[in-house]
Amino acid sequence: MNFEDTPEEAEFRAEARAFLKKHLDPAENDRDARYQPDFIERAKKWQKTKAEGGFAQITWPKQFGGRGGTPIQQVIWNQEESKFNAPTYPFAIGLGMCLPTVIAFGSDEHKKRYVPPALTGEEIWCQLFSEPAAGSDVAGLKTKAVRDGDEWVINGQKVWTTGAHISDYGIVLTRTDPDVPKHKGLTMFIIDMKDPGVEVRPIHQASGGSEFNEVYFTDVRIPDSDRLGEPGQGWKVALVTLMNERLAVGGSAGPDWREIMNYAREAGTMSDAAFRSKLADWYVAAQGYKLTKFRTQTALSKGETPGPESSIGKVITANQMQDICNSAMEMQDHYGLISDCEKAPMEAAFQEGWLWAPGMRIAGGTDEILKNIIAERVLGLPQDVRVDKDKPFSRMG
Ligand SMILES: Cc1cc2nc3c(=O)[nH]c(=O)nc-3n(C[C@H](O)[C@H](O)[C@H](O)COP(=O)(O)OP(=O)(O)OC[C@H]3O[C@@H](n4cnc5c(N)ncnc54)[C@H](O)[C@@H]3O)c2cc1C
Repeated sequence: MNFEDTPEEAEFRAEARAFLKKHLDPAENDRDARYQPDFIERAKKWQKTKAEGGFAQITWPKQFGGRGGTPIQQVIWNQEESKFNAPTYPFAIGLGMCLPTVIAFGSDEHKKRYVPPALTGEEIWCQLFSEPAAGSDVAGLKTKAVRDGDEWVINGQKVWTTGAHISDYGIVLTRTDPDVPKHKGLTMFIIDMKDPGVEVRPIHQASGGSEFNEVYFTDVRIPDSDRLGEPGQGWKVALVTLMNERLAVGGSAGPDWREIMNYAREAGTMSDAAFRSKLADWYVAAQGYKLTKFRTQTALSKGETPGPESSIGKVITANQMQDICNSAMEMQDHYGLISDCEKAPMEAAFQEGWLWAPGMRIAGGTDEILKNIIAERVLGLPQDVRVDKDKPFSRMG
C-alpha cells in the first residue's frame, strides 16, 4: 500500500487543482447552491467548462471526448473537485452509469448522437430500473415492452428515478418475456423522457427537495433501433450499469468526526465521557475506511479493478453520517429541530445530513444487500436462499 502520489499523479493533481481554482468560485458553490433556481443552468455551464478542459470523463477514450486517462486520475480529479463543492449531481447518473452502458451496447449511431451532448452537459440522463415491487430484487420488475413491428410498446411504472424531472433521455429496463426465469426475460432501451406517454411525478423529500420521481409509461413507442443489447439480454446490460453504479456510489459526503468534534468544542460538550467514547469509535471506523480506500486506490494505481470489497464504503460512511448527525442534533437539544441554514449551527449541516443519510443507506444497494455481497463474495459464506431460481417469472405469483 502506498499513501503518496507518484510523481505523475502529483503532476496531474496540480493540473486539476489549477483548473478548478481558475474556473470555480467556492462562494458560488456553498451548501445552499443546489436549491437555487439557477442550479441546473450553473451545473450545465460547469460541465461544458470541464469538457472543454478535458476533465469531463477522465477514463473515457479520446474518441468519445474523454481524456484517455487512468482510473486513479479519475479518483484524484473527484477528490479535488469535491473540495470545491462543484455542481455535478445532475450528470452523475448519466455520465457515471447510463452513457457507459450506451457506449458498451449502443450502435455507432447511438454513440455519435448521445455521447457528445451528455459530455458537454447539454443533455441529462436518468436510470429507470427500480419499481414499487422491484428494488433490491430489480430483476423482478413488471414494466412491459411488447413488440409491434419495428417498435416496442412500453407500459408500466418506475419509482425513485433520480433526476427524471430534469432528464432528456433515460435507460429503461423492461420485461419482454414473462415465460422464462426472471433474469432471462428482460430487455433494455433508450427512452425519450419528453415522449407524451412518459409522465414524471416528483416525490417530495423530508429534506425539502424533490430530486426523485415516480415515472409512468402509457403506450410509449420505442423504435427497435433504440434497443440496447439483444431481446432477453437486458440483465447482462443492466449489470454493466450496476457495476458502474458501485464504483460511482462510494462514500457519502457529509459531516464527519472532525466536524462534530469542532462543534462539541463550541458547544462545551467535549468533556462528556459518553460523547468522547462515541468520538473515539467514529475516529477508528473513519481511519479503517480511509486505509481501505487507500488499498482500492493502490489497486487502481496499478491498473487493477476494485472487487466486491468496495461495497464496504457505503455501509460504513452512510451509517456513520446518520449516527454523527443524530448525536450533534441531540447536543443542540430542542434547537436541533431547526433546519434553516441561516439559523442552525454549521449551516444546518447536521440536520441535512440526518435527513439524507437514510437515503444513502438505500441508494445503490441497501445495507443488507451490501452486507450480503461482502458475506458471499468477500468472506465466501454460503449464498442467500433463492427460491425463484430457474422458475418462469409468470409462475412466481
Ligand atoms: C437516494 C436514492 C436514489 C435512487 N435513485 C434511483 C435511480 O435513479 N434509479 C433507480 O432505478 N432506482 C433508484 N433508487 C432506488 C434504489 O435502487 C432502491 O430503493 C433500492 O435498490 C432498494 O429497493 P427498495 O426501495 O425497493 O427496497 P426493498 O428491496 O423492498 O428492500 C426493503 C428492505 O428489505 C431488505 N432486503 C431486501 N432484500 C433482501 C435480502 N435478500 N436480504 C436481506 N435484506 C433484504 C432491504 O435491505 C430493505 O431494508 C434510489 C434510491 C434512493 C434512496
